[in-house]
Amino acid sequence: MPTASQVLVLNCGSSSLKFAVIDPKSGVEALTGIGDGLGQSEPVISWQVQGDKHTVSLPDKASHTTVIQFLVDEILHPRPQLLHCLVAVGHRVVHGGEKFSRSVLIDGEVTDAIRDCATLAPLHNPPALLGIEAARKAFPALAQVAVFDTAFHQSMPRHAFIYALPYNLYRDHGIRRYGMHGTSHRYVTERTAELLNLPVDGVNVISAHLGNGASITAIRNGCSVDTSMGLTPLEGLVMGTRSGDVDPGILMHLGCRFDYSLKEVNDLLNRKSGLLGISELSNDCRALEKAAGDGHQGAWLALDIFSYRLAKYIAAYHAPLKQVDALVFTGGIGENSSLIRGKVLDHLEGLGFQVDPERNLQMRSGAEGTITRADSALALVIPTNEEWVIARDAANLVPGDHQNHNGGNRE
Ligand code: ADP
Repeated sequence: MPTASQVLVLNCGSSSLKFAVIDPKSGVEALTGIGDGLGQSEPVISWQVQGDKHTVSLPDKASHTTVIQFLVDEILHPRPQLLHCLVAVGHRVVHGGEKFSRSVLIDGEVTDAIRDCATLAPLHNPPALLGIEAARKAFPALAQVAVFDTAFHQSMPRHAFIYALPYNLYRDHGIRRYGMHGTSHRYVTERTAELLNLPVDGVNVISAHLGNGASITAIRNGCSVDTSMGLTPLEGLVMGTRSGDVDPGILMHLGCRFDYSLKEVNDLLNRKSGLLGISELSNDCRALEKAAGDGHQGAWLALDIFSYRLAKYIAAYHAPLKQVDALVFTGGIGENSSLIRGKVLDHLEGLGFQVDPERNLQMRSGAEGTITRADSALALVIPTNEEWVIARDAANLVPGDHQNHNGGNRE
């Protein structure tokens, strides 16, 4: 059990709440868990502490609040050593609009601002607010810190974040590129600087976060200068079920010619496209690789398109960087799929990338390192760790007199 200061990290999704107790200095996780199926029938909570795994059913339609109460009463209170090490709660918040360019201590003004940004992230900001509210009640003595997915991208210049639409849409309604996955791209940037022995504000990186959602960011001198996700997480790369970039004219064509409603178009672009839509088989990269190996043509096509489109973005992001210290792959696909990485690097030979097939094969299941030859432009695999960034930010923002004064609160 830990003796150093620990941070409780909460990540509230629309129907899930992931939690972890993390040492902000080392990144070691003393506890990890997830409440899943929230608001639905048969929700469950699973957690792992000291190597022991547990799963318990929660009452039907259990909420984020129920999970936090369970966490306090059933998981933390029986382990006072863990509970009393907590110095802060770090909350992942998806959208901070233009208001937040860094992590902040949460007060009434901050929760109001997160509520204001909910129109931009209707599925994500409301559950984050539920988590904040419940955590404030459960841990009244602990500092609560919000870490925003959008914050890292607030350094983008106007020419990267303004759409070529009538300017009043930005001025009056905040319609612009915000970007997502900022916490992951920031982790990758800081880790790359560490690995290359460069200062963070002197490192130039192209960071490709490839999970079910996928985005890519150009980072100059440690700051995001362009990113592929936009107002919403739909723009940019091909994803599991999301289309990424398409000709917007297609949407009008679907509506005018085939009577698609807006709701149907939304469903098509967000849930029926991407790897799933192309392959007509699966949104899951691993399943597609297996099917492709068995000769499934749709699976090959999906993987080909995914890789080609990613390579195009990587090539484009050489423009704002001028000189690139490293291309980094992260996220479930980036960390594990040597097939996708190999295809992408093959497309980028003209930019000096030469894959090292053996190293590429070795980088999987949490391994970190180089996948290119010695004389090549550098490509790395870095397993992301958003939770650790949240824990570090939260610990750094703890006011001095709040440290280690937690008792938890059984209501
Ligand atoms: P999320 O965005 O939901 O956090 P992840 O980062 O966990 O997603 O990434 C999920 C994706 O990673 C899935 O497409 C999955 O198939 C893929 N993936 C995981 N392991 C492998 C692997 N060994 N080979 C290829 N793809 C993998």
